Amino acid sequence: MIQLSSLLNGAWHVGEGSAQQLVNPSTEAVIATCSTRGLDLGAAVRFAREVGGPALRALTFAQRGELLKAMARALHEAREELLDLSADNNGTTRGDGKFDIDGATGTLASYARLGATLGDKRFLLDGEAEKLGGGARYVGQHVLLPRPGVAVHINAFNFPGWGAFEKIAVALLSGVPVISKPATSTALTAWRMFQIIDSKGILPAGALSVLTGPVGDLLDHLGPQDLIAFTGSANTGAVLRASPAVVERGVRLTIEADSLNSAVLGPDVEEGSEVWHAALRNLRTDIVQKTGQKCTAVRRIMVPEALVPALTAALVEELERVVVGLPTDEGVGMGPVATANQLRDVRAGMALLSGEARVLTGGAAPLAGHGAPEGKGYFVRPTLLLAQPGASAVHDHEVFGPCATVIPYAGDAEAAAALVARGQGSLVSSVYGSDRDWLWSFLSGAAPWNGRVVVASDKVVDQVLPPGMVLPNQVHGGPGRAGGGEELGGLRGLSFYHNRVAIQGDKGELRKILGE
Ligand code: NAP
Repeated sequence: MIQLSSLLNGAWHVGEGSAQQLVNPSTEAVIATCSTRGLDLGAAVRFAREVGGPALRALTFAQRGELLKAMARALHEAREELLDLSADNNGTTRGDGKFDIDGATGTLASYARLGATLGDKRFLLDGEAEKLGGGARYVGQHVLLPRPGVAVHINAFNFPGWGAFEKIAVALLSGVPVISKPATSTALTAWRMFQIIDSKGILPAGALSVLTGPVGDLLDHLGPQDLIAFTGSANTGAVLRASPAVVERGVRLTIEADSLNSAVLGPDVEEGSEVWHAALRNLRTDIVQKTGQKCTAVRRIMVPEALVPALTAALVEELERVVVGLPTDEGVGMGPVATANQLRDVRAGMALLSGEARVLTGGAAPLAGHGAPEGKGYFVRPTLLLAQPGASAVHDHEVFGPCATVIPYAGDAEAAAALVARGQGSLVSSVYGSDRDWLWSFLSGAAPWNGRVVVASDKVVDQVLPPGMVLPNQVHGGPGRAGGGEELGGLRGLSFYHNRVAIQGDKGELRKILGE
Protein backbone atom coordinates (compact mmCIF):
# COMPACT_ATOMS: atom_id res chain seq x y z
CA MET A 1 0.00 0.00 0.00
CA ILE A 2 1.42 3.39 -0.98
CA GLN A 3 1.39 6.02 1.76
CA LEU A 4 1.34 9.49 0.23
CA SER A 5 3.45 12.20 1.85
CA SER A 6 3.63 16.00 1.60
CA LEU A 7 6.65 18.08 0.64
CA LEU A 8 6.70 20.95 3.14
CA ASN A 9 9.58 22.97 4.62
CA GLY A 10 11.88 21.29 2.10
CA ALA A 11 11.24 17.74 3.41
CA TRP A 12 8.67 14.96 2.96
CA HIS A 13 6.24 14.47 5.86
CA VAL A 14 3.46 11.98 6.56
CA GLY A 15 0.31 13.14 8.38
CA GLU A 16 -0.88 11.53 11.58
CA GLY A 17 -3.89 9.43 12.45
CA SER A 18 -6.43 7.66 10.33
CA ALA A 19 -5.73 8.23 6.67
CA GLN A 20 -8.02 8.78 3.68
CA GLN A 21 -8.05 6.05 1.07
CA LEU A 22 -7.42 6.41 -2.65
CA VAL A 23 -9.23 3.86 -4.79
CA ASN A 24 -8.80 2.37 -8.26
CA PRO A 25 -12.12 3.35 -9.89
CA SER A 26 -12.14 0.30 -12.21
CA THR A 27 -11.72 -2.32 -9.46
CA GLU A 28 -12.57 -0.38 -6.27
CA ALA A 29 -9.30 -1.70 -4.75
CA VAL A 30 -7.64 0.67 -2.25
CA ILE A 31 -4.27 1.66 -3.75
CA ALA A 32 -2.94 4.38 -1.45
CA THR A 33 -3.64 6.32 1.73
CA CYS A 34 -2.90 9.85 2.82
CA SER A 35 -3.33 12.18 5.76
CA THR A 36 -2.34 15.80 6.38
CA ARG A 37 -3.32 15.87 10.04
CA GLY A 38 -0.70 17.34 12.39
CA LEU A 39 1.43 18.89 9.63
CA ASP A 40 2.77 22.36 10.47
CA LEU A 41 1.26 24.33 7.59
CA GLY A 42 2.16 27.72 9.10
CA ALA A 43 5.84 26.79 8.96
CA ALA A 44 5.35 25.49 5.40
CA VAL A 45 3.88 28.82 4.26
CA ARG A 46 6.71 30.77 5.91
CA PHE A 47 9.36 28.52 4.37
CA ALA A 48 7.91 28.91 0.88
CA ARG A 49 7.46 32.67 1.30
CA GLU A 50 10.80 33.43 2.99
CA VAL A 51 13.13 30.86 1.40
CA GLY A 52 11.57 29.78 -1.91
CA GLY A 53 10.31 33.22 -2.99
CA PRO A 54 13.59 35.17 -2.67
CA ALA A 55 15.50 32.33 -4.39
CA LEU A 56 13.11 32.40 -7.36
CA ARG A 57 13.02 36.18 -7.60
CA ALA A 58 16.85 36.31 -7.70
CA LEU A 59 16.64 34.47 -11.04
CA THR A 60 15.86 36.02 -14.40
CA PHE A 61 12.87 34.94 -16.51
CA ALA A 62 15.28 32.99 -18.74
CA GLN A 63 16.73 31.14 -15.73
CA ARG A 64 13.28 30.37 -14.35
CA GLY A 65 12.36 29.14 -17.86
CA GLU A 66 15.32 26.74 -17.70
CA LEU A 67 13.90 25.29 -14.48
CA LEU A 68 10.55 24.69 -16.19
CA LYS A 69 12.32 23.04 -19.11
CA ALA A 70 14.16 20.68 -16.74
CA MET A 71 10.86 19.86 -14.98
CA ALA A 72 9.19 19.06 -18.32
CA ARG A 73 12.09 16.80 -19.27
CA ALA A 74 12.05 14.95 -15.93
CA LEU A 75 8.31 14.30 -16.14
CA HIS A 76 8.50 13.23 -19.77
CA GLU A 77 11.19 10.67 -18.91
CA ALA A 78 8.76 9.14 -16.39
CA ARG A 79 5.82 9.24 -18.83
CA GLU A 80 5.08 5.48 -18.93
CA GLU A 81 5.09 5.16 -15.13
CA LEU A 82 2.82 8.22 -14.82
CA LEU A 83 0.38 6.86 -17.42
CA ASP A 84 0.11 3.63 -15.41
CA LEU A 85 -0.59 5.58 -12.21
CA SER A 86 -3.17 7.69 -14.02
CA ALA A 87 -4.98 4.51 -15.18
CA ASP A 88 -4.85 3.13 -11.62
CA ASN A 89 -6.10 6.21 -9.77
CA ASN A 90 -8.05 8.18 -12.40
CA GLY A 91 -9.37 5.29 -14.52
CA THR A 92 -7.93 6.83 -17.67
CA THR A 93 -7.41 5.07 -20.97
CA ARG A 94 -3.92 5.60 -22.39
CA GLY A 95 -5.18 8.44 -24.58
CA ASP A 96 -6.91 10.15 -21.65
CA GLY A 97 -3.81 9.71 -19.48
CA LYS A 98 -1.69 11.34 -22.17
CA PHE A 99 -4.08 14.27 -22.28
CA ASP A 100 -3.28 14.88 -18.59
CA ILE A 101 0.43 13.99 -18.42
CA ASP A 102 1.51 15.39 -21.79
CA GLY A 103 -0.67 18.42 -21.08
CA ALA A 104 1.46 19.04 -17.99
CA THR A 105 4.82 18.67 -19.74
CA GLY A 106 3.60 20.61 -22.79
CA THR A 107 2.49 23.56 -20.67
CA LEU A 108 5.78 23.57 -18.73
CA ALA A 109 7.68 23.52 -22.03
CA SER A 110 5.55 26.32 -23.44
CA TYR A 111 6.21 28.59 -20.43
CA ALA A 112 9.92 27.61 -20.56
CA ARG A 113 10.00 29.05 -24.09
CA LEU A 114 8.24 32.20 -22.88
CA GLY A 115 10.92 32.54 -20.17
CA ALA A 116 13.64 32.36 -22.82
CA THR A 117 11.84 35.06 -24.82
CA LEU A 118 11.57 37.37 -21.79
CA GLY A 119 15.30 36.92 -21.24
CA ASP A 120 17.42 38.57 -18.56
CA LYS A 121 14.65 40.58 -16.89
CA ARG A 122 13.24 39.89 -13.41
CA PHE A 123 10.07 41.96 -13.77
CA LEU A 124 7.93 43.40 -16.57
CA LEU A 125 7.33 46.94 -17.78
CA ASP A 126 3.70 47.69 -18.56
CA GLY A 127 3.53 50.18 -21.43
CA GLU A 128 5.65 53.27 -21.95
CA ALA A 129 6.61 55.95 -19.42
CA GLU A 130 4.01 58.75 -19.49
CA LYS A 131 4.73 62.45 -18.98
CA LEU A 132 3.07 63.74 -15.80
CA GLY A 133 4.31 67.27 -15.06
CA GLY A 134 4.66 70.42 -17.16
CA GLY A 135 8.22 69.49 -18.18
CA ALA A 136 9.49 66.35 -19.90
CA ARG A 137 11.38 64.87 -16.95
CA TYR A 138 8.68 63.92 -14.47
CA VAL A 139 7.11 60.67 -15.70
CA GLY A 140 5.13 57.66 -14.49
CA GLN A 141 5.99 54.11 -15.52
CA HIS A 142 3.76 51.13 -14.80
CA VAL A 143 5.76 48.13 -13.65
CA LEU A 144 4.70 44.53 -12.91
CA LEU A 145 6.59 43.17 -9.90
CA PRO A 146 6.27 39.57 -8.65
CA ARG A 147 4.27 39.36 -5.42
CA PRO A 148 6.50 38.60 -2.42
CA GLY A 149 4.10 35.92 -1.22
CA VAL A 150 3.21 32.29 -1.78
CA ALA A 151 0.69 30.87 -4.26
CA VAL A 152 -1.59 28.13 -2.94
CA HIS A 153 -2.94 26.05 -5.84
CA ILE A 154 -6.04 23.98 -5.05
CA ASN A 155 -6.88 21.51 -7.80
CA ALA A 156 -9.83 19.38 -8.92
CA PHE A 157 -9.77 15.59 -9.12
CA ASN A 158 -10.02 15.31 -12.88
CA PHE A 159 -6.60 16.59 -14.02
CA PRO A 160 -4.02 15.76 -11.33
CA GLY A 161 -1.15 16.34 -13.78
CA TRP A 162 -2.12 19.14 -16.13
CA GLY A 163 -4.23 20.90 -13.50
CA ALA A 164 -1.27 21.16 -11.13
CA PHE A 165 1.43 22.06 -13.64
CA GLU A 166 -0.53 24.54 -15.79
CA LYS A 167 -0.70 26.67 -12.65
CA ILE A 168 2.83 25.90 -11.40
CA ALA A 169 4.45 26.82 -14.74
CA VAL A 170 2.99 30.34 -14.64
CA ALA A 171 3.68 30.96 -10.94
CA LEU A 172 7.30 29.79 -11.01
CA LEU A 173 8.03 31.75 -14.18
CA SER A 174 6.64 34.80 -12.39
CA GLY A 175 9.01 34.22 -9.43
CA VAL A 176 6.31 33.14 -6.97
CA PRO A 177 6.73 29.93 -4.89
CA VAL A 178 3.90 27.39 -4.86
CA ILE A 179 2.16 25.13 -2.40
CA SER A 180 0.15 22.77 -4.61
CA LYS A 181 -2.80 20.82 -3.21
CA PRO A 182 -4.12 18.01 -5.42
CA ALA A 183 -7.66 16.74 -4.85
CA THR A 184 -7.32 13.95 -2.30
CA SER A 185 -9.21 11.23 -4.19
CA THR A 186 -6.83 11.24 -7.20
CA ALA A 187 -3.61 12.58 -5.68
CA LEU A 188 -1.43 9.61 -6.62
CA THR A 189 -0.22 10.80 -10.03
CA ALA A 190 0.44 14.35 -8.85
CA TRP A 191 2.30 13.09 -5.76
CA ARG A 192 4.59 10.98 -7.95
CA MET A 193 5.21 13.92 -10.29
CA PHE A 194 6.32 16.09 -7.34
CA GLN A 195 8.54 13.27 -6.07
CA ILE A 196 10.24 12.97 -9.45
CA ILE A 197 10.91 16.70 -9.67
CA ASP A 198 12.17 16.85 -6.08
CA SER A 199 14.46 13.85 -6.57
CA LYS A 200 16.17 15.61 -9.49
CA GLY A 201 17.02 18.66 -7.35
CA ILE A 202 15.84 20.97 -10.12
CA LEU A 203 14.29 23.75 -8.03
CA PRO A 204 15.60 25.95 -5.21
CA ALA A 205 14.41 24.84 -1.74
CA GLY A 206 10.93 26.14 -0.96
CA ALA A 207 10.04 26.96 -4.58
CA LEU A 208 7.59 24.06 -4.87
CA SER A 209 5.76 22.34 -2.00
CA VAL A 210 2.88 19.88 -2.09
CA LEU A 211 0.15 19.21 0.43
CA THR A 212 -1.17 15.75 -0.41
CA GLY A 213 -4.60 15.47 1.22
CA PRO A 214 -7.15 17.69 2.95
CA VAL A 215 -6.34 21.41 3.11
CA GLY A 216 -6.40 21.63 6.94
CA ASP A 217 -5.64 25.12 8.29
CA LEU A 218 -3.43 26.10 5.33
CA LEU A 219 -5.49 29.15 4.37
CA ASP A 220 -5.35 30.54 7.93
CA HIS A 221 -1.65 31.29 7.38
CA LEU A 222 -2.05 33.34 4.21
CA GLY A 223 -1.64 37.11 4.13
CA PRO A 224 -1.91 40.13 1.83
CA GLN A 225 0.77 39.19 -0.73
CA ASP A 226 -0.33 35.56 -1.00
CA LEU A 227 -2.58 34.05 -3.67
CA ILE A 228 -5.04 31.21 -4.10
CA ALA A 229 -5.67 29.72 -7.54
CA PHE A 230 -8.60 27.32 -7.23
CA THR A 231 -10.10 24.81 -9.66
CA GLY A 232 -13.13 22.83 -8.57
CA SER A 233 -16.80 23.06 -7.86
CA ALA A 234 -18.78 26.30 -7.58
CA ASN A 235 -19.69 25.33 -4.00
CA THR A 236 -16.08 25.16 -2.81
CA GLY A 237 -15.35 28.29 -4.83
CA ALA A 238 -18.07 30.11 -2.88
CA VAL A 239 -16.55 28.92 0.42
CA LEU A 240 -13.17 30.31 -0.63
CA ARG A 241 -14.66 33.63 -1.77
CA ALA A 242 -16.15 34.10 1.71
CA SER A 243 -13.08 32.87 3.60
CA PRO A 244 -11.36 35.21 6.10
CA ALA A 245 -8.14 34.83 4.10
CA VAL A 246 -9.82 36.53 1.13
CA VAL A 247 -12.35 38.80 2.83
CA GLU A 248 -10.27 40.01 5.79
CA ARG A 249 -6.64 39.54 4.83
CA GLY A 250 -6.74 40.46 1.14
CA VAL A 251 -5.43 37.21 -0.33
CA ARG A 252 -5.78 37.37 -4.13
CA LEU A 253 -8.12 34.64 -5.43
CA THR A 254 -8.87 33.27 -8.88
CA ILE A 255 -11.52 30.60 -9.50
CA GLU A 256 -12.10 28.10 -12.31
CA ALA A 257 -15.40 26.39 -11.55
CA ASP A 258 -18.39 24.65 -13.14
CA SER A 259 -19.24 25.35 -16.74
CA LEU A 260 -22.13 24.46 -19.03
CA ASN A 261 -20.17 24.62 -22.27
CA SER A 262 -22.03 24.79 -25.58
CA ALA A 263 -21.63 23.62 -29.15
CA VAL A 264 -23.83 25.40 -31.69
CA LEU A 265 -24.58 24.32 -35.25
CA GLY A 266 -25.43 27.20 -37.56
CA PRO A 267 -28.34 26.78 -40.03
CA ASP A 268 -25.98 26.75 -43.03
CA VAL A 269 -24.28 23.48 -41.99
CA GLU A 270 -25.15 20.75 -44.46
CA GLU A 271 -25.47 17.15 -43.43
CA GLY A 272 -22.41 15.22 -44.62
CA SER A 273 -20.28 18.36 -45.17
CA GLU A 274 -16.78 18.72 -43.71
CA VAL A 275 -18.10 21.10 -41.06
CA TRP A 276 -20.81 18.57 -40.14
CA HIS A 277 -18.22 15.81 -39.70
CA ALA A 278 -15.94 18.11 -37.66
CA ALA A 279 -18.88 18.86 -35.36
CA LEU A 280 -19.66 15.15 -34.92
CA ARG A 281 -15.99 14.31 -34.27
CA ASN A 282 -15.61 17.03 -31.65
CA LEU A 283 -18.92 16.23 -29.95
CA ARG A 284 -18.00 12.57 -29.62
CA THR A 285 -14.53 13.47 -28.28
CA ASP A 286 -15.94 15.92 -25.77
CA ILE A 287 -18.53 13.49 -24.40
CA VAL A 288 -16.22 10.46 -24.19
CA GLN A 289 -12.75 11.88 -23.46
CA LYS A 290 -11.81 11.60 -19.77
CA THR A 291 -15.26 10.05 -19.32
CA GLY A 292 -16.68 13.54 -19.71
CA GLN A 293 -14.83 14.75 -16.59
CA LYS A 294 -13.36 17.76 -18.33
CA CYS A 295 -14.21 21.29 -17.27
CA THR A 296 -14.32 22.23 -20.96
CA ALA A 297 -16.47 19.29 -22.12
CA VAL A 298 -19.62 20.11 -24.05
CA ARG A 299 -22.83 19.86 -22.01
CA ARG A 300 -25.32 21.63 -24.31
CA ILE A 301 -25.61 21.13 -28.08
CA MET A 302 -27.79 23.70 -29.86
CA VAL A 303 -29.04 22.36 -33.21
CA PRO A 304 -31.40 23.96 -35.77
CA GLU A 305 -34.68 22.01 -35.64
CA ALA A 306 -34.34 20.73 -39.22
CA LEU A 307 -30.95 19.15 -38.47
CA VAL A 308 -31.91 17.48 -35.16
CA PRO A 309 -32.97 14.03 -36.50
CA ALA A 310 -29.82 13.53 -38.60
CA LEU A 311 -27.43 14.92 -35.99
CA THR A 312 -28.83 12.91 -33.08
CA ALA A 313 -28.92 9.69 -35.15
CA ALA A 314 -25.28 10.10 -36.20
CA LEU A 315 -24.10 10.98 -32.70
CA VAL A 316 -26.01 8.14 -31.05
CA GLU A 317 -24.38 5.74 -33.51
CA GLU A 318 -20.92 7.11 -32.59
CA LEU A 319 -21.56 6.88 -28.83
CA GLU A 320 -22.99 3.36 -28.97
CA ARG A 321 -19.77 2.15 -30.60
CA VAL A 322 -17.72 3.14 -27.52
CA VAL A 323 -16.70 0.19 -25.34
CA VAL A 324 -16.78 1.17 -21.65
CA GLY A 325 -14.59 -0.77 -19.24
CA LEU A 326 -11.16 -1.45 -17.80
CA PRO A 327 -9.14 1.41 -19.32
CA THR A 328 -6.04 -0.72 -19.88
CA ASP A 329 -7.94 -3.33 -21.93
CA GLU A 330 -7.51 -3.22 -25.68
CA GLY A 331 -10.55 -1.85 -27.47
CA VAL A 332 -11.90 0.01 -24.44
CA GLY A 333 -12.67 3.57 -25.44
CA MET A 334 -13.88 4.98 -22.13
CA GLY A 335 -12.95 4.20 -18.53
CA PRO A 336 -14.96 4.70 -15.33
CA VAL A 337 -15.63 8.00 -13.61
CA ALA A 338 -13.02 8.72 -10.96
CA THR A 339 -14.80 8.07 -7.66
CA ALA A 340 -17.89 6.53 -6.09
CA ASN A 341 -19.14 10.06 -5.30
CA GLN A 342 -18.71 11.01 -8.92
CA LEU A 343 -20.76 8.00 -10.05
CA ARG A 344 -23.52 8.93 -7.63
CA ASP A 345 -23.49 12.60 -8.74
CA VAL A 346 -23.40 11.74 -12.45
CA ARG A 347 -26.34 9.34 -12.14
CA ALA A 348 -28.31 11.84 -10.08
CA GLY A 349 -27.55 14.57 -12.63
CA MET A 350 -28.69 12.37 -15.53
CA ALA A 351 -31.91 11.59 -13.66
CA LEU A 352 -32.49 15.30 -13.06
CA LEU A 353 -31.95 16.25 -16.71
CA SER A 354 -34.08 13.37 -18.00
CA GLY A 355 -37.07 14.88 -16.16
CA GLU A 356 -37.12 17.46 -19.00
CA ALA A 357 -35.42 15.51 -21.76
CA ARG A 358 -35.62 12.20 -23.63
CA VAL A 359 -32.69 9.79 -23.23
CA LEU A 360 -31.53 8.98 -26.76
CA THR A 361 -28.74 6.66 -25.63
CA GLY A 362 -27.03 5.75 -22.36
CA GLY A 363 -28.63 6.81 -19.10
CA ALA A 364 -28.11 6.27 -15.42
CA ALA A 365 -28.70 2.48 -15.21
CA PRO A 366 -25.86 0.39 -13.67
CA LEU A 367 -23.26 -0.83 -16.15
CA ALA A 368 -20.77 -3.71 -15.92
CA GLY A 369 -17.45 -2.48 -17.32
CA HIS A 370 -15.82 -4.61 -20.02
CA GLY A 371 -12.93 -6.57 -18.42
CA ALA A 372 -13.60 -5.23 -14.92
CA PRO A 373 -14.08 -7.51 -11.87
CA GLU A 374 -17.73 -8.52 -11.55
CA GLY A 375 -19.85 -5.96 -9.73
CA LYS A 376 -16.94 -3.52 -9.41
CA GLY A 377 -16.04 -0.17 -10.93
CA TYR A 378 -17.70 3.21 -11.41
CA PHE A 379 -18.88 2.73 -15.00
CA VAL A 380 -21.53 4.72 -16.80
CA ARG A 381 -22.62 4.82 -20.44
CA PRO A 382 -21.96 7.77 -22.79
CA THR A 383 -25.30 9.54 -22.66
CA LEU A 384 -27.14 11.81 -25.10
CA LEU A 385 -30.42 13.50 -24.23
CA LEU A 386 -32.86 15.52 -26.31
CA ALA A 387 -34.33 18.46 -24.37
CA GLN A 388 -38.07 19.06 -24.38
CA PRO A 389 -39.31 22.60 -25.17
CA GLY A 390 -38.85 24.86 -22.13
CA ALA A 391 -36.27 22.61 -20.42
CA SER A 392 -34.37 24.61 -17.81
CA ALA A 393 -32.26 22.23 -15.67
CA VAL A 394 -29.94 21.70 -18.65
CA HIS A 395 -28.90 25.37 -18.36
CA ASP A 396 -28.37 25.19 -14.59
CA HIS A 397 -26.97 21.81 -13.69
CA GLU A 398 -23.57 20.50 -14.76
CA VAL A 399 -23.40 16.71 -15.03
CA PHE A 400 -19.63 16.20 -14.67
CA GLY A 401 -19.52 13.00 -16.73
CA PRO A 402 -20.09 11.61 -20.25
CA CYS A 403 -23.42 13.33 -20.80
CA ALA A 404 -24.66 16.05 -23.15
CA THR A 405 -28.07 17.34 -24.18
CA VAL A 406 -29.25 18.40 -27.64
CA ILE A 407 -31.38 21.55 -27.52
CA PRO A 408 -33.34 22.31 -30.73
CA TYR A 409 -33.63 25.95 -31.79
CA ALA A 410 -35.20 27.78 -34.73
CA GLY A 411 -31.89 28.58 -36.44
CA ASP A 412 -31.57 32.31 -35.75
CA ALA A 413 -28.29 33.55 -34.30
CA GLU A 414 -29.94 35.62 -31.55
CA ALA A 415 -31.83 32.60 -30.20
CA ALA A 416 -28.64 30.48 -30.23
CA ALA A 417 -26.70 33.19 -28.39
CA ALA A 418 -29.50 33.58 -25.83
CA LEU A 419 -29.37 29.82 -25.13
CA VAL A 420 -25.59 29.99 -24.63
CA ALA A 421 -26.07 32.92 -22.21
CA ARG A 422 -28.53 30.88 -20.12
CA GLY A 423 -25.51 28.92 -18.85
CA GLN A 424 -24.61 32.08 -16.87
CA GLY A 425 -20.99 32.09 -18.03
CA SER A 426 -18.93 29.26 -19.57
CA LEU A 427 -15.34 28.31 -20.26
CA VAL A 428 -15.79 27.57 -23.96
CA SER A 429 -18.33 27.40 -26.74
CA SER A 430 -17.85 26.12 -30.27
CA VAL A 431 -19.85 27.24 -33.27
CA TYR A 432 -20.04 25.38 -36.59
CA GLY A 433 -20.93 27.34 -39.72
CA SER A 434 -19.55 29.65 -42.36
CA ASP A 435 -22.15 32.42 -42.83
CA ARG A 436 -20.27 35.55 -41.69
CA ASP A 437 -23.31 37.70 -40.91
CA TRP A 438 -24.88 34.90 -38.88
CA LEU A 439 -21.58 34.26 -37.10
CA TRP A 440 -21.19 37.94 -36.19
CA SER A 441 -24.73 38.12 -34.77
CA PHE A 442 -24.05 34.96 -32.79
CA LEU A 443 -20.62 36.03 -31.53
CA SER A 444 -21.73 39.49 -30.47
CA GLY A 445 -24.40 37.91 -28.26
CA ALA A 446 -22.63 34.74 -27.10
CA ALA A 447 -18.90 35.52 -26.90
CA PRO A 448 -19.07 37.76 -23.78
CA TRP A 449 -20.54 34.75 -21.92
CA ASN A 450 -17.46 32.67 -22.62
CA GLY A 451 -13.73 32.65 -21.93
CA ARG A 452 -13.03 31.13 -25.35
CA VAL A 453 -15.01 30.56 -28.55
CA VAL A 454 -14.01 28.16 -31.34
CA VAL A 455 -15.36 29.17 -34.75
CA ALA A 456 -15.24 26.05 -36.95
CA SER A 457 -15.96 27.41 -40.43
CA ASP A 458 -15.22 25.68 -43.73
CA LYS A 459 -11.94 27.66 -44.03
CA VAL A 460 -10.31 26.04 -40.94
CA VAL A 461 -12.31 22.89 -40.50
CA ASP A 462 -9.32 20.69 -41.38
CA GLN A 463 -7.16 22.38 -38.70
CA VAL A 464 -9.52 23.24 -35.88
CA LEU A 465 -8.58 21.60 -32.54
CA PRO A 466 -11.23 20.02 -30.31
CA PRO A 467 -12.81 22.83 -28.23
CA GLY A 468 -12.15 20.91 -25.01
CA MET A 469 -8.41 21.33 -25.49
CA VAL A 470 -6.93 24.12 -23.38
CA LEU A 471 -3.80 25.66 -24.91
CA PRO A 472 -1.05 27.38 -22.90
CA ASN A 473 -1.04 30.47 -25.13
CA GLN A 474 -4.84 30.98 -24.98
CA VAL A 475 -6.69 32.17 -21.89
CA HIS A 476 -8.50 29.56 -19.83
CA GLY A 477 -11.37 30.70 -17.62
CA GLY A 478 -14.79 32.17 -18.03
CA PRO A 479 -17.20 34.74 -16.62
CA GLY A 480 -20.02 34.17 -14.14
CA ARG A 481 -20.65 30.61 -13.00
CA ALA A 482 -17.34 29.50 -14.63
CA GLY A 483 -15.69 31.38 -11.75
CA GLY A 484 -14.70 34.68 -13.36
CA GLY A 485 -11.05 33.58 -13.37
CA GLU A 486 -8.42 33.66 -16.07
CA GLU A 487 -5.38 31.40 -16.32
CA LEU A 488 -2.71 30.76 -18.99
CA GLY A 489 -2.90 32.87 -22.16
CA GLY A 490 0.92 33.10 -22.51
CA LEU A 491 2.21 36.35 -21.01
CA ARG A 492 -1.32 37.28 -19.83
CA GLY A 493 -1.22 34.49 -17.23
CA LEU A 494 1.70 36.16 -15.42
CA SER A 495 -0.43 39.17 -14.39
CA PHE A 496 -2.15 37.26 -11.57
CA TYR A 497 1.21 36.66 -9.85
CA HIS A 498 2.44 40.25 -10.23
CA ASN A 499 1.50 43.58 -8.69
CA ARG A 500 1.10 46.50 -11.07
CA VAL A 501 2.81 49.53 -9.56
CA ALA A 502 2.94 53.04 -11.05
CA ILE A 503 6.43 54.35 -10.28
CA GLN A 504 6.75 58.12 -10.70
CA GLY A 505 10.00 60.06 -10.86
CA ASP A 506 12.72 61.47 -13.04
CA LYS A 507 12.65 59.89 -16.50
CA GLY A 508 16.41 59.35 -16.80
CA GLU A 509 16.77 58.13 -13.23
CA LEU A 510 13.89 55.66 -13.57
CA ARG A 511 15.40 54.29 -16.78
CA LYS A 512 18.66 53.58 -14.98
CA ILE A 513 17.01 52.16 -11.85
CA LEU A 514 14.73 49.92 -13.87
CA GLY A 515 17.64 48.86 -16.09
CA GLU A 516 16.07 49.87 -19.39
P1 NAP B 1 -14.27 20.23 -5.27
O1 NAP B 1 -14.98 19.22 -4.47
O2 NAP B 1 -14.69 21.64 -5.17
O3 NAP B 1 -12.74 20.07 -4.89
C1 NAP B 1 -11.75 20.83 -5.52
C2 NAP B 1 -10.57 21.03 -4.60
O4 NAP B 1 -10.97 21.84 -3.49
C3 NAP B 1 -10.02 19.73 -4.00
O5 NAP B 1 -8.62 19.82 -3.97
C4 NAP B 1 -10.60 19.74 -2.59
O6 NAP B 1 -9.81 19.04 -1.66
C5 NAP B 1 -10.55 21.22 -2.29
N1 NAP B 1 -11.45 21.66 -1.22
C6 NAP B 1 -12.62 21.12 -0.85
N2 NAP B 1 -13.16 21.84 0.16
C7 NAP B 1 -12.29 22.84 0.44
C8 NAP B 1 -12.28 23.91 1.37
N3 NAP B 1 -13.26 24.10 2.23
N4 NAP B 1 -11.23 24.74 1.38
C9 NAP B 1 -10.22 24.58 0.51
N5 NAP B 1 -10.17 23.58 -0.41
C10 NAP B 1 -11.20 22.72 -0.44
O7 NAP B 1 -14.33 19.87 -6.82
P2 NAP B 1 -14.01 18.50 -7.55
O8 NAP B 1 -15.13 17.58 -7.28
O9 NAP B 1 -12.61 18.03 -7.25
O10 NAP B 1 -13.99 18.96 -9.06
C11 NAP B 1 -15.13 18.92 -9.88
C12 NAP B 1 -15.55 20.29 -10.29
O11 NAP B 1 -14.43 21.03 -10.75
C13 NAP B 1 -16.51 20.27 -11.43
O12 NAP B 1 -17.63 20.99 -11.06
C14 NAP B 1 -15.79 20.95 -12.58
O13 NAP B 1 -16.63 21.75 -13.37
C15 NAP B 1 -14.78 21.76 -11.90
N6 NAP B 1 -13.60 21.90 -12.73
C16 NAP B 1 -13.33 23.11 -13.30
C17 NAP B 1 -12.20 23.27 -14.07
C18 NAP B 1 -11.86 24.58 -14.70
O14 NAP B 1 -10.75 24.74 -15.17
N7 NAP B 1 -12.76 25.52 -14.74
C19 NAP B 1 -11.34 22.20 -14.27
C20 NAP B 1 -11.66 21.00 -13.69
C21 NAP B 1 -12.78 20.86 -12.90
P3 NAP B 1 -10.15 17.54 -1.23
O15 NAP B 1 -10.09 16.72 -2.47
O16 NAP B 1 -9.06 17.23 -0.27
O17 NAP B 1 -11.51 17.59 -0.61
